[in-house]
Amino acid sequence: MTNPSPSRRNLHSHTYRCKHASGDAAEYVSHASKTGVDTYGISDHTPLPGDRFNSHRMDMSELEDYHQAIRDAQDSFPEITVLAGLECEDFDDCRSFYEDEILGRRNFDYLIGAGHFTPLQGSWEDSYFGMTSATKLRAYGDHLCSMMESSLYQFIAHPDVFGLSSDHWNEDLKACSHDILAAAEANGKPLEINGGGFRKLAQKSGKDAHPGFPLRQFWETACDYQITVVCNSDAHHPTHAMASIEKCIQYAEELGLTIASDEQLGIKAA
Ligand SMILES: [Zn+2]
Ligand SMILES: [Zn+2]
Repeated sequence: MTNPSPSRRNLHSHTYRCKHASGDAAEYVSHASKTGVDTYGISDHTPLPGDRFNSHRMDMSELEDYHQAIRDAQDSFPEITVLAGLECEDFDDCRSFYEDEILGRRNFDYLIGAGHFTPLQGSWEDSYFGMTSATKLRAYGDHLCSMMESSLYQFIAHPDVFGLSSDHWNEDLKACSHDILAAAEANGKPLEINGGGFRKLAQKSGKDAHPGFPLRQFWETACDYQITVVCNSDAHHPTHAMASIEKCIQYAEELGLTIASDEQLGIKAA
């Protein structure tokens, strides 16, 4: 049973196809290879049927080329396990596309569940802004819980992004955190400590400073639950291929959080 050190693994990275990142799979793996990585996952934002919301994701017509770029990266770096993934919104009407087409017919290695958008009263709200009312936070928490109850996603990306909207910890944030953490425990679903959050926080110093994510109180609360975490860079540029991962691991270790093994994540070991 192989179990590489968590500092030798990243399962969250993007390519130029999502229109807000640069570089392609082989460039990420090339940069990561210099750090002695064992397992590298490419997980660009999934295309959606009908090319919905494609201003920040690839078009469906690019999916095959994306998958091929990952296979080519694997061929170029045979010493590293290169995995084909996608970061997915959990829209109800997309689940069969993920299951039948992405995991089924195309045989991708894994999916990440992410709540960049929150379903609320028939529309989708941006989870990065304005998540301040109890109603919105409950909707965000419910959305993540439903993702964790499905077996589609290997782990949940940045579950604590709701912290970006608030400048102080309060009862509503606490309740949202408990809902998410209880579902992660009940479903054995790892939660991501997202290195991109550390880099965003650095940009948000000074008068716009906010608790951001990783949201300290969320992860302190996590210590009361039997959950595991996964430490990822969320790289949007090849030079960030393994960025902030050591910092995420240190953060988890300081709090006493358990880092998920490859087996717990259900990914192919290097
Ligand atoms: Zn994301
Ligand atoms: Zn991402």
